[in-house]
Amino acid sequence: MLEKIGEFNMEKVIDDFEAMTSDAERIQKETLKKILEQNRSAEYLQLLGLNGRTDLETFKRVVPLVTHTDLDPYIQRIADGDSSPVLTGKPITTISLSSGTTQGRSKFIPFNDELMENTMQIFQTSFAFRNREFPIGNGKALQFIYGSKQFQTKGGLAAGTATTNVYRCSKFKETMKAMQTPCCSPDEVIFGLEFHQSLYCHLLCGLLFSDEVQLVSSTFAHSIVQAFRTFELLWEELCADIRDGSLSSRITVPSIRAAMLKLLEPNPELADSVYRKCSGLSNWYGLIPALFPNAKYIYGVMTGSMELYLNKLRHYAADLPLLSADYGASEGWIAANVNPKVPTEMTTYVVLPNIGYFEFIPVRDGIDFKPVGLTEVKIGEEYEVVVTNFAGLYRYRLGDVVKVMGFHNSTPELKFLCRSNLLLTINIDKNTEKDLQISVEEAAKLLAAEKLEVVDFSSHVDLSTNPGHYVIFWELSGEASQEVLNECCNCLDKSFVDAGYRSSRKVNGIGPLELRILRKGTFQKVLNHYLAQGSAVNQFKTPRCVGVNNSKVLQILCGNVVRSFTSTAYDI
Ligand code: AMP
Repeated sequence: MLEKIGEFNMEKVIDDFEAMTSDAERIQKETLKKILEQNRSAEYLQLLGLNGRTDLETFKRVVPLVTHTDLDPYIQRIADGDSSPVLTGKPITTISLSSGTTQGRSKFIPFNDELMENTMQIFQTSFAFRNREFPIGNGKALQFIYGSKQFQTKGGLAAGTATTNVYRCSKFKETMKAMQTPCCSPDEVIFGLEFHQSLYCHLLCGLLFSDEVQLVSSTFAHSIVQAFRTFELLWEELCADIRDGSLSSRITVPSIRAAMLKLLEPNPELADSVYRKCSGLSNWYGLIPALFPNAKYIYGVMTGSMELYLNKLRHYAADLPLLSADYGASEGWIAANVNPKVPTEMTTYVVLPNIGYFEFIPVRDGIDFKPVGLTEVKIGEEYEVVVTNFAGLYRYRLGDVVKVMGFHNSTPELKFLCRSNLLLTINIDKNTEKDLQISVEEAAKLLAAEKLEVVDFSSHVDLSTNPGHYVIFWELSGEASQEVLNECCNCLDKSFVDAGYRSSRKVNGIGPLELRILRKGTFQKVLNHYLAQGSAVNQFKTPRCVGVNNSKVLQILCGNVVRSFTSTAYDI
């Protein structure tokens, strides 16, 4: 039996989920009806001629599939202070900023109470299933989370990243408490706005509460790896702070300092214990369970573009399970990980049929087909996700590609594949984010023999040469020999198996792939660049392809190349 904790009855959450997913078709229709009823006065729907109708057939006939660009003028009017019902019946009062790391710039997205409710529903659902398999005790969560700056739009609406909008909400804290996992760090650290200082203090708080830590988490796994890479560099300083009950002079934000000093008092035993544990590790293997002996698992999004970081995370985690967090976007939540025992790379997400109306555009050979409903998808097929939500997005193409792996009751289980926009293309070649990742993973295997790894990567289509060619940027964990990197370069080139690429390479319609090795710390500079522009660390995803229009990032990458290699894989 699952126990009841506070106001949160896990058994009921699971029962509700099972009932809902067993009746997905009906729930989807009802959800659409509710969305259209609530927003019948919205100008956008009226202009399309929906005339208050709420049935699926009319909806599909009169409402077009759109992208963010189509809705941008409406969202902009809302942000500029138009409080008439533009996209929603009730005025929107908060704007979310998407991470902007996939497209190069942040987008404005409407946020409202319903999205907040959905967030709590998703958190509770996956927690109930997770806790059944990996029960945690009362304690704390070491969460590497960072609030971003909130500002007011021209029209006075509060704007911040979706994650910040969530963390700031009192319901979030209540839910975390009900799930036994309040964050180790005080609010001043989470909302400190100085990322490096907040990270240092998150680590320090984790150590101060090390015996209470039940889990280590972040929104995206990237932040956890980054945190422990930082720990490797700063652990002695952290130990000194614990020993003396003082705080490193690197922490300069007064609110963070004040909050941290309240927690600190000289604790030589703890400092000694951390020191001993760290000294006893071999190449930091098993660092996380060594520091946090009561942690039950590590939690954060680990699929899609986060897969690159899994090797490093496994190294820090040793045998501690790695559980991927749910699937969602600033535009709203989509699906929960309710099978936490499945190996991380194979994680699937079950759609919650009452949090929006979902459609799926089949993606085959790059051709767009007509969208199908949630319960009409087929196992083994790939689809682009289309969302209609409670916050003014109607038939909105999210830009993600997923694969249907099976069904949970009558609701599909999705595997996240990649962003849908093509990344690398010169002529007839088409390579997606996933193709690039596969190629990088293949080539990275050659580094394993030298005990090296790819810390992070990106790519670029270089059309300044004739013919154009692919450039792959790698930051490595150490020095690799000329010979191995030559091999890696050839392997990257060979591992793009797209027929268009191969045939173009053979006839020199595309030039030899170039592997450029970057100075250590280059991707940290890329992150800093995004942070300076107001992006949030929580939602940061390394851009996997950098175009010429993203000139600043391209400059950072090109300006930090230390060695470069040209493929001979197709030389005759
Ligand atoms: P953002 O633009 O910051 O709201 O990020 C949302 C995007 O992150 C989604 O559209 C996906 O591309 C990606 N994402 C979110 N959750 C997951 C997940 N569980 N697995 C893989 N990618 C995800």
